[in-house]
Amino acid sequence: MSDSNETLANLAHEQRRFAPPAAFAESANVTEEAYARADADRLAFWEAAAERLDWGQKWDQVLDWSNPPFAKWFTGATINASVNCVDRHVEAGRGDKVALHWVGEPEGDARDITYAQLLDEVSRAANALTELGVRKGDRVAIYMPMIPETVITMLACARLGAPHTVVFGGFSSDALASRIIDCGAKVVVTSDGGYRRGAASALKPAVDEAVAKVDAADGDLAVEHVLVVRRTGQDVAWTERDVWWHDAVDTASAQHTPELHDSEHPLYVMYTSGTTGKPKGILHTTGGYLVGTSYTHWSVFDLKPESDVYWCTADVGWVTGHSYMVYGPLANGATQVLYEGTPDAPHKGRWWEIIEKYGVTIFYTAPTAIRTFMKQGDAIPAKFDLSSIRLLGSVGEPINPEAYVWYRDHIGGAKDGGEGVPIVDTWWQTETGQILISPLPGVTHGKPGSAMRPLPGISADVVDDEARSVGDGEGGYLVLKEPWPAMLRTLWGDDDRFVETYWSRWEGLYFAGDGAKKDDDGDLWVLGRVDDVMNVSGHRLSTTEIESALVSHPSVAEAAVVGAADDMTGQAVVAFVILREAAGDGGAEIETELRNHVGREIGAIAKPRQVMVVPELPKTRSGKIMRRLLKDVAEGREVGDTQTLADASVMDLIKAREAAR
Ligand code: ATP
Ligand code: MG
Repeated sequence: MSDSNETLANLAHEQRRFAPPAAFAESANVTEEAYARADADRLAFWEAAAERLDWGQKWDQVLDWSNPPFAKWFTGATINASVNCVDRHVEAGRGDKVALHWVGEPEGDARDITYAQLLDEVSRAANALTELGVRKGDRVAIYMPMIPETVITMLACARLGAPHTVVFGGFSSDALASRIIDCGAKVVVTSDGGYRRGAASALKPAVDEAVAKVDAADGDLAVEHVLVVRRTGQDVAWTERDVWWHDAVDTASAQHTPELHDSEHPLYVMYTSGTTGKPKGILHTTGGYLVGTSYTHWSVFDLKPESDVYWCTADVGWVTGHSYMVYGPLANGATQVLYEGTPDAPHKGRWWEIIEKYGVTIFYTAPTAIRTFMKQGDAIPAKFDLSSIRLLGSVGEPINPEAYVWYRDHIGGAKDGGEGVPIVDTWWQTETGQILISPLPGVTHGKPGSAMRPLPGISADVVDDEARSVGDGEGGYLVLKEPWPAMLRTLWGDDDRFVETYWSRWEGLYFAGDGAKKDDDGDLWVLGRVDDVMNVSGHRLSTTEIESALVSHPSVAEAAVVGAADDMTGQAVVAFVILREAAGDGGAEIETELRNHVGREIGAIAKPRQVMVVPELPKTRSGKIMRRLLKDVAEGREVGDTQTLADASVMDLIKAREAAR
């Protein structure tokens, strides 16, 4: 792929720039100084960040990189993640501060949990898990809805040094079983069910099936206990290994003396979203991970623990729910919202209603959600008072410039001449554990669609096939050149695949599959997966750029493009679009109009061969578009593995549209 820098440059035409509001910049946690300090001595910079935490034994070495790519951070140090997230806040006299404003999906079903209460609950859960035979090093699978017990279980596992693996509650029993088997979990924590879209859905039956599959699988692995929270009260089948949470945890002692663990002790295994293939079991360890997540949560979100109310809408079954809902915010003593349900239950303004009610100041969500709100129209958020918001964040995919501007206008208060709040577009991965590329909200001018520059202490670059750094205005592969504290340590049980997957393309560089370019100012634009790059008549086109061009049309809310095999051009661009509700069915000319719009925005070469208006797009549970499935449709193939799809029926709808053409 020697022509990797030939990606089209339409996004560079994006000229809008938003300076941080003066008052925000003045009181920001981090200033320009941090970059210089980190450049001068990267390890001293991370060592200073580590002082934010409570340690037992201090480290001998900040980083041991003597056996790359296997990193060890803060070697010889001891620490307990649960103590850092809970106990120390209580000991410092902040026990009465609310840790979680939990909001259930059924209206009125809500509960505030203070740090002191959280300490009680985590201690009880740690005692109960010990009683069930969980020992340091044992793995615990967590298959739960978004309820406080989920966070409590994670922290109890961390306390014991028993790595958890959280499996998204919407996954099938097959997906759950394969993850239990892969990491050898001996206890599963679940609930009878949860609430989604106004109805109680069941979870326990999937666990029962998964446990049976584990029993039937080769090897001597067996799930010894299933600990079950009663959430909905629905009937559940019961076996000898099942234990109710209210019997085991509520009755356990609220006193638990934690042990300190080695800095490199495994904290959890998290499987990737599986957007591009079979999920990988990413291993994160304790000390470095906590340093990386707590520092970035404080700096990127400008967290003021005394006054902010933070809300990250990610599901806990995704890495964002680990780093920026559990470990980062709680280590920083934040007050945050935890919401069980979907954004549209019981009405489409539910999220905005929650922001108004709790006075949320920092809000972190994904582009897929923003585009859904764009589709529904401006009138819905306009009904609520969102003036408490002072910072917005985005994660998961490149944010289309149009979606960024909508977010800033309608959620960030910039419409009708308002000043608007900073937006942080944060690039990172399950593997990176922490945000690596993002604006700093008090320093960086926002550019819609650009994640901007590596954070202090991070060295990222865009390189060509020969691993040479590309110049400004050019594109290539996004790589990391130096280790960072929250980086993955390996793939669970598979060091060879770890080396092969991330470190084998170029000596000494980490590469995990994203393409990017530098604009004329040297700022970074993530262009999507290099696997998704299309080659049309010898021109390399990025999916992100064409999708953003489509989303900039007033009738379009969401778009996904793929390269489909084409006799004439090698590959041809095929686009799938969701229209804004206000645009109706778009009219007879919509396909031609959108093709021409892309032609005007980017160039004739990028014009889709075909534009299909669809009701939904196939997405993973974390909201990422699964382009490989759309490519199957565009090329008339049987649709591939849909295991990690949020809603498999979406593919039937799309195939039906295709057949009706
Ligand atoms: P798999 O690796 O199994 O295919 P995945 O890569 O979708 O799954 P995640 O770790 O959840 O799993 O996603 C990380 C990816 O999300 C990044 O590699 C990048 O493609 C995308 N991403 C995340 N944040 C951003 C962002 N701010 N801008 C652009 N892309 C982003
Ligand atoms: Mg990935």
